[in-house]
Amino acid sequence: MAAKRILILGAGTGGLVAAHRLRRMLDKEHRVILVDRSPVYSFAPSFTWVMLGTRDARRISRDLRSVQKKGIEFLLGEVQAIDPTTKQVIVSERPIDFDYLIVALGADYFSDEIPGLGQCWTFYHIEGAEGLHERLETFASGRVAIVVSSLPTKCPAAPYEGALLIDDYFRRRRLRHDIDIHVYTPEPAPLPSAGPTAVEPVLELLSSREIGFTPGCALAEIDQRSNEMKFSDGGAASFDLLIATPVHTCPAVLRHSGLAEARGWVAVDRETLATGFEDVYAIGDATEIPLSDDRTLPKAGVFAHGQAEVVSRNIAAEIAGGQPIWAFGGQGNRFLSTEAGKAAMISGNFFTEPEPDVKVRGPNRRWHWAKVGFERLWLWRWF
Ligand SMILES: Cc1cc2nc3c(=O)[nH]c(=O)nc-3n(C[C@H](O)[C@H](O)[C@H](O)COP(=O)(O)OP(=O)(O)OC[C@H]3O[C@@H](n4cnc5c(N)ncnc54)[C@H](O)[C@@H]3O)c2cc1C
Repeated sequence: MAAKRILILGAGTGGLVAAHRLRRMLDKEHRVILVDRSPVYSFAPSFTWVMLGTRDARRISRDLRSVQKKGIEFLLGEVQAIDPTTKQVIVSERPIDFDYLIVALGADYFSDEIPGLGQCWTFYHIEGAEGLHERLETFASGRVAIVVSSLPTKCPAAPYEGALLIDDYFRRRRLRHDIDIHVYTPEPAPLPSAGPTAVEPVLELLSSREIGFTPGCALAEIDQRSNEMKFSDGGAASFDLLIATPVHTCPAVLRHSGLAEARGWVAVDRETLATGFEDVYAIGDATEIPLSDDRTLPKAGVFAHGQAEVVSRNIAAEIAGGQPIWAFGGQGNRFLSTEAGKAAMISGNFFTEPEPDVKVRGPNRRWHWAKVGFERLWLWRWF
C-alpha cells in the first residue's frame, strides 16, 4: 500500500483531535500534517474565566509545536489557497499535495460590517478577555450591555455565561446594586438551536439574577461617543460598558477555493462531513449543518471534536482497506458557568426531530468541577 499524506488545515479544536486520532490509528509510513498560522493554541471555554481574572491566559495556552513529539508534523503558515480538485494546498507560498484533506479552519472575525463594533470590548479572543478583566476591575457603576452582534456566533451559550459571571463578579464586589446588566441578541430566545427545553432554564437563570434580556434585535451601529447602540428596527440602547461578540465569517480562503459559497459556510454531509470533493472533508465552525425550522447546528468545540473523530476514523479505515462506518450523530454537551464554583450542563442530541432533545441540568458545584477537570484533561491530552 502506498504511503498517504493527510493534511489537516487548522490546529484548533477539530484539527488537534483529528491529527491525534489519525496518528494513533495509522502506520508510521503515512504522514499526518497539521497546519496553523499561529504557534499557540488557547482553550476558549476558559476565556470567560480569563475575563474574571480566575485564569491566567498562559495557563490555558499551549505551544502547538509540541505535537511533533507525537509524530504529527506541524507546519506554521498561512493557508493561502486550496485546490480540492488537483489536491493541492498553498501554505505560505509553498505548494503541498495531499491524499486526504480535513478542513478545520474555524470562523474568522470581521467587525468592519457594523460601524463602531471594532472598538468594543469582547471575551471572544484571549487578548480581549485579558483586556476586559482590567476594565471590569475599574468599573464601579453604570450599565453593562452584552450584545450578540450578528449570527451565527461561536458557542451561542457564551454571551449568557458572560452575563451570569459578570453579575456574580459584581455581587462579590458588592457593587451589583449600582450596575445594570442587559443582554441584547438577534436570536428569538437564548440558544434557539438547542430547542425549547433549553430556552426556559436559561431565561430563568437570567431573570433570577436580574439580568435584562432583549431578543430579536439586530445591531446596526454603535456610536462610541454617545455610548449608544442602534438596532435595524430603529430601536436604541445606551451603555457605559459594551461587550460584543465579533461578526463571524467563513475564512476567505474557503470561499475562494469553491469549498464555501459567496457569503456562506462549507456545506457537508452531516453524518460523514464529506464535501462535494473527493477525499476532502470539513469539520467544525467552518461548516454549516442545517437543522429543522431554519436552525443550524451551533458552532461549538464539542461538535468539532465529535466530527473530527468520525472523519479521522473513516479515513484511517479506508487507508487500511476497510469500510468507513462512522457517522456523526449530533450529540453534544457544554458546561455553562453561572457563578464562581458553579456550572450548569447543557446536553443532548441536536439532530433529533422535530425538535432537538437538549436538557439543562444544574447549576451545581459538581458541573463546575467537571468543567475544571475537562479543562485539565484537554490541555494535557493534546499537548
Ligand atoms: C468565549 C468562547 C467560549 C467557548 N466555549 C465553548 C464551550 O464551552 N464548549 C464548546 O463546545 N465550544 C465552546 N466555544 C466554541 C469553540 O471554541 C469553537 O467552536 C471550536 O474551537 C471550533 O473548532 P474548529 O476546529 O472548527 O476551529 P478553531 O478551534 O477556531 O480552529 C481554527 C484554527 O484555524 C486556524 N486558521 C484559520 N485560518 C487559517 C489560515 N488561513 N491559515 C492557517 N491557519 C488558519 C486558526 O488559527 C485556528 O487555530 C467557545 C468559543 C468562545 C469564543
